[in-house]
Amino acid sequence: MTEPPLHIETVAVSVARPEGPGAPFTPPVSFSATFRSGHPDYNYGRAGNTTWSAFEEALGALEGGRALAFASGMAAIAAVIEMLPVAAVVVVPRSAYTGTRLLLADLQTRGRVEMRAVDITDTPETVAALDGAALLLVESPTNPLLEIADLRALLFAAHERDTLSVVDNTFATPVLQRPLELGADVVVHSVTKYIGGHSDLIFGAAITRDDALFDRLKARRTLHGGIPGPMETWLALRGLRTLPLRLEKAQANARVLAARLQEHPAVRAVHYPGLSGHPGFDIAAGQMSGPGAMLSFELADAETADAFTARLRLVVDATSLGGLETTIDRRSRWVGDEHVPPGLLRLSVGIEHVEDIWSDLAGGLEGH
Ligand code: PLP
Repeated sequence: MTEPPLHIETVAVSVARPEGPGAPFTPPVSFSATFRSGHPDYNYGRAGNTTWSAFEEALGALEGGRALAFASGMAAIAAVIEMLPVAAVVVVPRSAYTGTRLLLADLQTRGRVEMRAVDITDTPETVAALDGAALLLVESPTNPLLEIADLRALLFAAHERDTLSVVDNTFATPVLQRPLELGADVVVHSVTKYIGGHSDLIFGAAITRDDALFDRLKARRTLHGGIPGPMETWLALRGLRTLPLRLEKAQANARVLAARLQEHPAVRAVHYPGLSGHPGFDIAAGQMSGPGAMLSFELADAETADAFTARLRLVVDATSLGGLETTIDRRSRWVGDEHVPPGLLRLSVGIEHVEDIWSDLAGGLEGH
């Protein structure tokens, strides 16, 4: 009799535990620049580290592939792009994470890549842009507009054209969306966000099922040196253990807050794929097991949004997302996010009591 597969909550808690009598419960932090010779994976510390392996085994199990730990989400994305030939065409959402677009724009100025920015919610436009493209680098939901891409359709189209497909799964995490199962070649993460989950580290990862791609990505990491420290890796693994639990709570909070914000007269629009009026609601429901804990909402203009933010006492005005605490960020203040409506606030909903978050937001909206 075959055992039923474990649920993701169980996998997160139990995977990559050292085994055998007397083994420590958590993998040790290997503060070591080098390892004794004779092992295929551990020799020089830029090429392999036993603490990385524990984290990689765990994240690989959640995403359903083989994972590689990187120094940051950007280091993982850069490793993917660095695999491409010179002048390769990269298709990317016009509204992708700022850092991703700034990196591609920077590389484009030197002829390293050609960037094709598309409306990722427009499947025919995106598929048309794939002609002659080497890479589809897609995000869904996007940061900070929470747009939804039809991943199945886009990943299928990329596959048909031999275009490498990469999904940035930072917002959804493997708890809510598993892009490798939807047809992606590679998944990348800013582990800094939900997986780390405690706003205490910068970390990244890339995951694939393709052994050749895995080897190429690993070679990029070793050659470029975009490696994480062992202590950060240990913290990232500790964060991963509670990812499903934290996300469930944060998502439950986000559902309540999105619905209430939508009803508020001062709020002009709420972008949250869990609201039935969201243009990507049906597609999100077909590819995600929940809408997540990120939302954005629009106030009249930048001044109104800043005055509102200044009135908040619990919700923290800070960039980044995916931590325990609710944070708010007026995105158009950042270089590269000028396309974002000026009064748009991105809310990373945390795990506090929802009524405390709401009373802070409602108080801010009422002007006290
Ligand atoms: N991808 C997304 C969707 C992000 O939001 C971020 C950071 O905000 C990154 C990638 C980059 O990750 P990191 O800051 O860990 O380099």
